[in-house]
Amino acid sequence: MKQHNTDRFTSRTTTRLTLFSGFLVVTAALLIAATPATAAPPYKSVYIDNIPHVKQKPDFCGEACAEMVLTKLGKKMDQDFVFDASGLDPRLGRGCYTKELYQALKKIGFKVGTGGYTVDARTNRSAVAGMTAQFDAMHADLVRGIPSIICMHYDDRPNTTEHFRLIIGYDAATDEVIYHEPAHADAANERMKRDMLIKLWPLKYQRTKWTVIRLRLEPGRLIEGESSSSFTAADYAVHIHGLKKRLPHDKFHIVLQPPFVVVGDQSQTMVRRHATQTVQWTVDRIKRQYFKKDPDEIIDVWLFKDTESYEKHNLQLFSQKPTTPYGYYSPTHNVLVMNISTGGGTLVHEIVHPFMASNFPACPAWFNEGLASLYEQSSTRGGKIWGLTNWRLGGLQTAITDRRVPSFKTLCSTTTEQFYNQDPGTNYSQARYLCYYLQERGLLNEYYHQCRANSQQDPTGYETLKRVLAAGREPLSDADMATFKVRWEKYVASLRF
Ligand SMILES: [Zn+2]
Repeated sequence: MKQHNTDRFTSRTTTRLTLFSGFLVVTAALLIAATPATAAPPYKSVYIDNIPHVKQKPDFCGEACAEMVLTKLGKKMDQDFVFDASGLDPRLGRGCYTKELYQALKKIGFKVGTGGYTVDARTNRSAVAGMTAQFDAMHADLVRGIPSIICMHYDDRPNTTEHFRLIIGYDAATDEVIYHEPAHADAANERMKRDMLIKLWPLKYQRTKWTVIRLRLEPGRLIEGESSSSFTAADYAVHIHGLKKRLPHDKFHIVLQPPFVVVGDQSQTMVRRHATQTVQWTVDRIKRQYFKKDPDEIIDVWLFKDTESYEKHNLQLFSQKPTTPYGYYSPTHNVLVMNISTGGGTLVHEIVHPFMASNFPACPAWFNEGLASLYEQSSTRGGKIWGLTNWRLGGLQTAITDRRVPSFKTLCSTTTEQFYNQDPGTNYSQARYLCYYLQERGLLNEYYHQCRANSQQDPTGYETLKRVLAAGREPLSDADMATFKVRWEKYVASLRF
């Protein structure tokens, strides 16, 4: 169902009322409804068989109607495909209006017809004649086996929404039109009196000139197509449609930055800047270096402008008080939540996690966090994302001096629970500077891919670490690893931030 009453067809009628409203001209509609039905309807019964019913995704009534017919024709193009074919910008967070649906259907190869028709409504007589002609034409198409998508008012309440339905038949015995209703499941072969349909069909943007929308679904040379398995423009449109309803207030701006949707309460310019300079920048690089697959779900990146907004909206949107002042990733809510006033480093860190989850779900926590924290502070080197020293260095250097840093065997063998909840204070920094070391030796990329490939035999990544550090020679022994740790500690001690 549509949530709006806007003009769905503007390409033919250049004069569109700026102050239009379908229900302001209710008088004309009442006149039509009051017209007594003349003798028996001159239409014969007709029914187009074997059109499966499809329930629409939110706001995809037109697209779903098209999918029904495409499925009957043996095509694999679904409502998402139809949306994508329309070229409609998914950031608008809505489904097709008539104009876009018309373009999509043409592109797919239907002989759609004119799409939008005008009925002269200057007099009751001309209006009745005009609507009758429209119905005649639709019925004639049904007889030829051609269903139509029509745009009509949802029902006869005032100010009702506009809605696409698929007309597939007519029953002369009851004078009813038969249609598939995309708004609900199990709403195949719904029926509506012809009088009612004729009342709901015209869109009265102008008092004396009604717009009648009918898209014929006569197959011409249909293209071949299949919806892709990754996120389509349609997926984003549906997602943003839902997100818009959850915005705490209207000062939030939404920027689509696949595979994320960035939403923030800073200025539009700032939100856009974070989307491009941080989100896109990071995604481009980590995908090139590590991750083939996008996250399994569309993830919202919430950027709250300050601590107050961050805390207030966390409670409001996710019913929780954050345990960190910077930001976090919640796989439960499919969100990255940031207090963006603390900088973009945490955002880069958190972006790594959903990619890791979809590409290397068995990744041990130490490596997941080591890699994510490596890029908290990063730049580009040779087109690659490159971690730099950062604030985690000082604490680690102190721990090294105090001989408090556990062995790598210990670090690697920590369970997720141990890593997060029994952290001696060095887990993140030790993992980060191990990754940093591997990066500086040119081994980090190889380590990621080997660790992932070997994760069944070596779930902790420790054996893989021994092998990668050996750089083609015999894998390191535990004793060698102790020697390596001494070398690594010296190296870390020499680093500067
Ligand atoms: Zn993390």
